[in-house]
Amino acid sequence: AAGLVMPPATATAAFPYQDPALPVPVRVADLVSRMSLEEKLGQMTQGERASVSAADVTAYRLGSVLSGGGSAPQVNTAAGWADMYDGYQKAALATPLGIPLVYGVDAVHGHNNVAGATIFPHNIGLGATRDPGLAERIGRAVAEEVSGTGIDWNFAPCLCVARDDRWGRTYESFGETPDLPASMASIVTGLQGETLDGPASVLATAKHYVGDGGTAGGADQGDTRLSEADLRAVHLPPFEAAVRRGVGSVMISFSRWNGVKLHGHRYLITTVLKEELGFGGFVVSDWNGIDQIDGLRGTSALDVRTAVNAGVDMVMVPVEWRRFIDLLRAEVRAGRVSTARVDDAVRRVLTKKFELGLFERPLTDRSYTASVGSAAHRALAREAVAKSQVVLKNAGGVLPLARTGGRIFVAGKNADDIGNQSGGWTITWQGLSGAVTPGTTILQGIRNTVGSAATVTYSSDGSGIDGSYRVAVAVVGETPYAETRGDRPGGLALDAADLSTIATLRASGVPVVVVLVSGRPLDIAAELPGWNAAVAAWLPGTEGQGVADVLFGVVPPTGRLPMTWMRSFSQQPINAGDGQTPLFAQGYGLT
Ligand code: BGC
Repeated sequence: AAGLVMPPATATAAFPYQDPALPVPVRVADLVSRMSLEEKLGQMTQGERASVSAADVTAYRLGSVLSGGGSAPQVNTAAGWADMYDGYQKAALATPLGIPLVYGVDAVHGHNNVAGATIFPHNIGLGATRDPGLAERIGRAVAEEVSGTGIDWNFAPCLCVARDDRWGRTYESFGETPDLPASMASIVTGLQGETLDGPASVLATAKHYVGDGGTAGGADQGDTRLSEADLRAVHLPPFEAAVRRGVGSVMISFSRWNGVKLHGHRYLITTVLKEELGFGGFVVSDWNGIDQIDGLRGTSALDVRTAVNAGVDMVMVPVEWRRFIDLLRAEVRAGRVSTARVDDAVRRVLTKKFELGLFERPLTDRSYTASVGSAAHRALAREAVAKSQVVLKNAGGVLPLARTGGRIFVAGKNADDIGNQSGGWTITWQGLSGAVTPGTTILQGIRNTVGSAATVTYSSDGSGIDGSYRVAVAVVGETPYAETRGDRPGGLALDAADLSTIATLRASGVPVVVVLVSGRPLDIAAELPGWNAAVAAWLPGTEGQGVADVLFGVVPPTGRLPMTWMRSFSQQPINAGDGQTPLFAQGYGLT
């Protein structure tokens, strides 16, 4: 969080907490000793931008604001974001103690709320690269873009271990076995930088603790039914890796473990995460995540005290944050939440604010604003896209495609659609089809690659193809979704439009290469024999050129499956590794 550099405070600091020369624990202790209960409650509260005004930040001493997935962005330029951020921050600085707020966003595959930002492949694609160094470089690039809009805190990476492809968040997973998310936790180091007060450092969040990818039936926010030994073996290692890398925050999962809501799970949050793993940062709830601890909708006193006593330090209460503050105040006054617990939570939050340098540099460092969507970051994203491509089939050596000569036909609903190739969490929470943000579609990437050396013809549904083309490329698969709305309990087959597009191409007799743009393995075994080649492109983001790079052999294919590929949908949960015969094993990928 490198913001505007203020004059050294040492000479003028009225209180020890304002003196940057003092060690952080000393500054934290001094500040906490000066805080009223109201000021402490504010530090434990995070409201959503649409429900929080700058005046609210000052009046209620709010410690944090977020721009959540569930809220439509009102500003859509990098500079506009920075202005918005600075407005909130100045309101926080206007409080008696001048405690800066920490502002959080979901920059889960690039700074994806901001039009014009570089959109990187979703985690499933990064998992296919098996390249922790690449993930770290991406983390650095994302941190620069996020810093350029003032934001200090990223709700990423998701370190879920996705065990069931029916789950709507499968694409947020680096892989189905704990080793992949654990190694790709290197992205934490990229986001946070060498030290949190270094240039363009943002606080990272390991989420969603713990077992979010292991729910029965792949139901989002469901119940993970596992022995403690299995929970620790499968779902805990990525969090251990993130803690070793000094991750600043951990977000709790909406899910349950053997029937108990994680948000109220004192053993897992306090005993395991904080005491056993030694996590020294702060724990944040998910969006209204404490609400249903008592089994009822809406935040209750029981929800509040159970979550805070379990070890949640900051509660994301997007809309009803006033009610949360009232409930927590009453619980503290009644002695059901101890002041020691409140002080511990506040110390954890303030420690990260000091470490980020927010007290010295609270406002946006505009020198990074131009990095949003920069050519260098787009080049990095293109590299990542190329490395994430997994060649599933290549009969008769149809790949790589020749760059020169003849006619190429491109079809499919995902061929020329930035929104579809970016997936959920792009500009809006659920994502959208269409030209939602600048980038290179896969079709455009193909055109760029061949230039005038070959003819490229496109129709979305394949109409217009005839036997005169040397190859047809069908870019098909899923359209954007996020979270629960992406759950697919009923099947993962290609839709009727995709099947019809491919059938039209095949009827011409031209060899067909199928590029699957999807957030997870799809149920393709019945169709695959009719395709000459198949490539899993995952959700590549804005740099579709990277897909073309592999199709044309500009970059050799090296991606390997981060997840087992089902032979039939009935094999789910195939990622749980129960010895079924898959279509393609985890780690498979032609070179
Ligand atoms: C998601 C989190 C996200 C939060 C804030 C929730 O619905 O589960 O992953 O960080 O919203 O947008």
